[in-house]
Amino acid sequence: MDRQQGSAATPKAAAGKPRLSASASAGGAYRRTSSGPLPAAGGGGRASSDSGVSSRVRVAVRLRPRNAEEQAADADFADCVELQPELKRLKLRKNNWESDTFEFDEVLTEFSSQKRVYEVVAKPVVESVLEGYNGTVMAYGQTGTGKTFTLGRLGDEDTAARGIMVRAMEDILADITPETDTISLSYLQLYMEMIQDLLDPVNDNIAIVEDPRTGDVSLPGATVVEVRDQKSFMDLLRIGEAHRAAANTKMNTESSRSHAILMVNVRRAVKGRNEMDVSMSAENGHSSSMMGSLRPPIVRKSKLVVVDLAGSERIDKSGSEGHTLEEAKSINLSLSSLGKCINALAESSAHVPVRDSKLTRLLKDSFGGTARTSLVVTIGPSPRHRGETTSTIMFGQRAMKVQNMVKLKEEFDYKSLCRRLDIELDKLIAENERQRKYFDDEVERITTEAQCRVVEAERECKIALENEKMKYHQEYLDSIKILEEKWKVHQQSPKKEVKETESTSNGDVHELLQNEKMLRQSAEDESNDLRNQLLHWKKMEATATAEVVKLRRMLDTEASQKDKFEEEIAVLKSQLMQLSMDADETRMSLDTGDGPGKIFPGLDSLMSHTRSSQPREQSNGPKAPVAKLFEQVGLQKILSLLESEEPDVRVHAVKVVANLAAEEANQEKIVEAGGLTSLLMLLRSSEDETIRRVAAGAIANLAMNETNQDLIMAQGGVTLLSMTASDAEDPQTLRMVAGAIANLCGNDKLQARLRGEGGIKALLGMVKCGHPDVLAQVARGIANFAKCESRAATQGNKVGRSLLVDDGALPWIVKNANNEAAPIRRHIELALCHLAQHEVNAKDIVSEGALWELVRISRDCSREDIRMLAYRTLTSSPTLQSEMRRLRIEC
Ligand code: ADP
Ligand code: MG
Repeated sequence: MDRQQGSAATPKAAAGKPRLSASASAGGAYRRTSSGPLPAAGGGGRASSDSGVSSRVRVAVRLRPRNAEEQAADADFADCVELQPELKRLKLRKNNWESDTFEFDEVLTEFSSQKRVYEVVAKPVVESVLEGYNGTVMAYGQTGTGKTFTLGRLGDEDTAARGIMVRAMEDILADITPETDTISLSYLQLYMEMIQDLLDPVNDNIAIVEDPRTGDVSLPGATVVEVRDQKSFMDLLRIGEAHRAAANTKMNTESSRSHAILMVNVRRAVKGRNEMDVSMSAENGHSSSMMGSLRPPIVRKSKLVVVDLAGSERIDKSGSEGHTLEEAKSINLSLSSLGKCINALAESSAHVPVRDSKLTRLLKDSFGGTARTSLVVTIGPSPRHRGETTSTIMFGQRAMKVQNMVKLKEEFDYKSLCRRLDIELDKLIAENERQRKYFDDEVERITTEAQCRVVEAERECKIALENEKMKYHQEYLDSIKILEEKWKVHQQSPKKEVKETESTSNGDVHELLQNEKMLRQSAEDESNDLRNQLLHWKKMEATATAEVVKLRRMLDTEASQKDKFEEEIAVLKSQLMQLSMDADETRMSLDTGDGPGKIFPGLDSLMSHTRSSQPREQSNGPKAPVAKLFEQVGLQKILSLLESEEPDVRVHAVKVVANLAAEEANQEKIVEAGGLTSLLMLLRSSEDETIRRVAAGAIANLAMNETNQDLIMAQGGVTLLSMTASDAEDPQTLRMVAGAIANLCGNDKLQARLRGEGGIKALLGMVKCGHPDVLAQVARGIANFAKCESRAATQGNKVGRSLLVDDGALPWIVKNANNEAAPIRRHIELALCHLAQHEVNAKDIVSEGALWELVRISRDCSREDIRMLAYRTLTSSPTLQSEMRRLRIEC
C-alpha cells in the first residue's frame, strides 16, 4: 500500500519538481506561521453543534539524533535528510547531487527539546479538548525513530524528558475545576486485530461498539479509571507499560509490532447559561416559571486520544518472527488500512475503507471526522534506512491533505436536571403544605371568634329583656294596687257626698287615667326600644354568619387551588420521569450500542427479561423517580391524566403507565385501578399513533398474566389491537400489537375465541410490514398458539385440523421456516413441529411443502431439542413416513 502511495506521489519529485508549497497541496485552509504552535483552524471558537468547522490534520516531522551505532557505522556518510526548520522544509537526499524538498507544518530538528515538541504538536490539541472538541495526537514512523520517546517518556530520571502524554495530563489537570469536571482514562494495546486492556490484562479481546445513529465508536468493555492528580496518572501509565511488556512476552512479540492507545475522557460542566434561569425561577417561587427551568444544564464531553503506532517498516511476510503468514497479515492489517484510509481521504474518494481494520474504526473521528488531529512523523538520519524514511515522509505529506470538521461535543446533562427538579419539587410541596396549614388555622380561629361573639350577644340580650320585663310587671302591679285602693275609698263615701265629691274624684280619676296612659306609653316605648335592640343583635348575628360563609368560600378556593397545584406537580413529575427515561435510554443505547428500535423498556421485558432488567438494576436513576412518582402522585391521579385535555400530558401519562406496567409488581394495581380499561379506551379513541403505540406496549406487558388475558379478551381487546394494527404506520406500533396478541396466543383457554375474533388473521396481516422485530413477535405468537393447540389435541380436548392451518398460516410458516433471523426461525421451527405432531394436519403439511422444512430442521437445526422433536415427529407420523418413502427421503 505504502509503495502505491509513494509511486503516486513520486512522479512530481522524480521529474525534478519537488513539492515546495504545502498551501498548494494541502488546500487553502493552511496559513503559514513563522513561529509558535501549529495554527489551530477554527481559532478555538465555538463550533455549532451540527455544522462543524473545517480543520486540516496538522503534521510535524521530527528527526532523531544519530545513535551510538550510527555514529560508528555511518561516520563517513552524510545524513540522508537535511532540515530547514525556519522554512519548515525537509530535504531528502537522493544522491550527492539531487534532493527532494518537502514542506511540513512544523520541522523539528534533532536538537528540539521535548517541551518544544509538546508545544507545537500537542498543546493546541489539548487546549481544544479542554474547550470541548475531540482531539488526537499520533506518532508514525519506523521502529527506533522516537515515537515512544516523543509520546510516552515518563521523565522519572529527568523532568525535561517528559513526553506528550505526561505533559498533556499536566495541562488538563491544571485547567479543570475538580468540583464540576471529571477526567477519566483507558489505556489499550491493539495487536493482531485484538484490543487488549493495558489496565486489566485479563480483558484481552475488547469489542468496538458503534452507535448506529451517531456513528460514534466506543469500547464499553475497557477499564475506565478516574484521574484526580498527576501521581495517579503516572501510576496508571506505569501499570499499563508493565502489562504491555508482560502481554508482549506472552504473545511472542515486541512492542514495536503493537499500537498503544491512551484515551482521556474530559467531562466539563458549561457554566453560566442555565444557572440564571434556575435562580430567577427560585426567586419568583412560581411553579409556572419552574417550567422554564426545565431546560437541562449543558456538559461538554470531549476525548483526547494519543496513539503510539506500531513501527511502520514492512515486516517480513515469511513470518520470521515465529508467526505464520496469516498472523503476519493480521499484524500489518491495521497500519496498512490506516494508510489506505488516509490515501482515500487525501484524494477525497467517495469510499474510505474505515471498516477494514480495528485501528481505522477506532480512529474514525481522528481522520475525516470531528476531532482536531495532530500527527508527528518520526525519522532517523541514517542513509541505510532511506526507503523507510521516504515512505514515512510521504505518509506525512498525504495526511496533511486530510480535512476534519471539528465539532463541539456539547450535550444536555439530564441527570443534574433531574436532581435539580427533584429539589424544586420538594420545595414546592413543602411550601404548599405550609400554606395549607396556615389557612386551616386561620379559618378555625375566625370561626371560634365569631361563635363566641354570637353567644355573648345572645346572652346579653336575654338578660336585658328579662330585666325590662320584671320592671314593667312591677310597675303595672303597683298602679293596679293604687287604683284598687282608690276604688275602695270611692265606694265607702255617702251618696250625698257623692255628688259633691264626684267632681273632685272625677278629677282624680282623670289624673290617674292620664298617669296610666303615660305609663303605658313609656312601657310601649321601652318595649319598642328593646325590640330595636333585639333587631340590632339579630343583624349582628347575620353579619357574623355572612363572615363565616365568606371564610368557607375562601377555604373552598384554597382547596381548589391546592388541587391545581397537585395536578401541576403530577404533570411536572411525569415530565421529569419522561426526561430521565429519555436520558437513560440515550445512555443505554450509547452504552450497549443498541439501535433506535427501542421505544421504551416496557416491551423489552416482554422480549427478554434479562435484557431489560439489567440496565434497570444498574442505574438507580430512572427507577427511583418511577417508584417515587407512584407513591407521591398516586396511580389514580396518573390514570386520570390519561384523559387530560393536554395532548402532551396524555402522551407523558401513557408513557408513565407503560413504564409502571413493565414492572410485574405494579401490574395488579394498574388493572385494579381500571388502568387496563383506560389503555384499551386509548386504543379505541386516540388519534395519536404514539399514544396508541405506547398503550399497546403497556397492554402487551399486562397480557403476560393469565387473569389479565381473560380481561383483555372480555373487553374486546383483540378487535381493538387488530384495528390499531391496521391503522399503524410505525413498525414499532405493529411490534407492540403483535407482542400483545402473541401473549394472548399462549393461553390454552382462549384459543377458539382469539381465533374467532380475528387474532390470527391480524397477526398474519402484520407480516407484510417486513420489519424483523414485528416478524419475530408474529412468529412467537404462532408458536405459542401451535403449542397450546398441540397440548389440547394430546389431551383429547381438540379434534380436527389446526386453526392456524384453517386461517392460512402454513404458507407463511413454510416461507420463513429458514429465516435468517434466529428468533424468527426458532419460533417457526417450533410451531411447525407442533403442527406436524398431529396426523390431522399431515396432509396440509405435505401439500404446502412443509415436509422439506421438517426434514431440514431434523438435520440442521442447531438446537438439539428442536432437532429431536422434528425427528420424532417425522418418524412417528404414518402420512409423513409414506410421503418420505415415496420421495425416497431419509431422515
Ligand atoms: P520507537 O518508539 O519509534 O520505536 P523509541 O522512542 O523507542 O522509538 O526510540 C528508540 C531509541 O532512540 C531510544 O533509545 C530513545 O531513547 C532514542 N531516541 C529517540 N528519539 C530521541 C531523541 N529525539 N533524542 C534522543 N534520543 C532519542
Ligand atoms: Mg516504541
